[in-house]
Amino acid sequence: MVTAESVKRFCREKGADLVGIAPMTRWEGAPKQFDPRAIAPRAKSMIVLGFRIARGALRGIEEGTLYTTYPSMGYAALNQIYAPMVLWNLTNFLEDHGYETVPLLNANGGEAVNPVTGNFRAGWSIPVAEGKPYPDVLVHFRIAAFLAGLGQIGYSKVFLTPQFGPRQRFALCMTEAELEPDPIFEGEICDRCMQCAKQCPAQAISMKETVKVTLAGHEIEWGKLDPLACEKGIQGGREGELNPFLKEYPRRYGYGRALGGGYGCIRACMDHLEKRDRLTNRFRTPFREGPPWAKLDHSQPHPHTPDIVENYEKTGRIEDAEAYVTYNKRDNYATDKAAGKPNPLVD
Ligand code: SF4
Repeated sequence: MVTAESVKRFCREKGADLVGIAPMTRWEGAPKQFDPRAIAPRAKSMIVLGFRIARGALRGIEEGTLYTTYPSMGYAALNQIYAPMVLWNLTNFLEDHGYETVPLLNANGGEAVNPVTGNFRAGWSIPVAEGKPYPDVLVHFRIAAFLAGLGQIGYSKVFLTPQFGPRQRFALCMTEAELEPDPIFEGEICDRCMQCAKQCPAQAISMKETVKVTLAGHEIEWGKLDPLACEKGIQGGREGELNPFLKEYPRRYGYGRALGGGYGCIRACMDHLEKRDRLTNRFRTPFREGPPWAKLDHSQPHPHTPDIVENYEKTGRIEDAEAYVTYNKRDNYATDKAAGKPNPLVD
């Protein structure tokens, strides 16, 4: 027999850090384009799985010396490899017991409403029958995590859990199995310290204006977010002040961004919550022992450091980064190949 307890045990054994269960009825009142019940009308329960982002996945960006780890291990690999594997196992487990189960990964792409701007995409899709929403319906993972009792939405609009603060990603499934739900989280993790807004390099989070919504009878409030400014922050700030690269950074599993490394909404928030001992995933050393490195000024020239002059310039081991850019842009490489142009890195 499938119970909430057996589902949670199974998910943890397969690798989920957090598991919460919400009855589908908690989505009552959701706008039509965001209502997961339109996807799985017979589902009784939503199971929300949380996967921690290793604190160390942020270390390279915090030090300003390695930018591959957060977009890969902290973002893409969680959303596109690890979480789907656990979700896939859970779906099979429930279907082996006769319950149709719809797995939902954190993978955007087909929504009728733009998940960044919140605008409806005119000319994208049409409803397949009267009364149905436009495909694809956009399910809000943070709201799902709230409805499943995993924590609260912080002032930053990032989801906070008592275990990891802002440091996790989610995967969902909707199942026809009727499982014992978890209560809505009633604690306070976010203490309105405002470090997320103060330290956001793109000033994407308003210090004054807030947004209020009612979810399952609970009034929730967060700081008003400017989504386009947030995109700038993700890519390294308005003036690239958090981006040390002079060329476009290569993508990792399809993710090429996250160069800002959640400067305010994840790193500053996490450091703050850890220092106030609000999280149960404790570390032997603090995340930050002093202020992070100073923001970069791209309007100034940045001559090579003495180390590079000594070991590379003086020994003639200098090449133009443009060759690497060409190598990374597969289209250019293919076009160059077709035109018979050699690529200095591979030909
Ligand atoms: S930084 Fe402070 S105000 Fe912002 S979400 Fe975290 S705890 Fe809340």
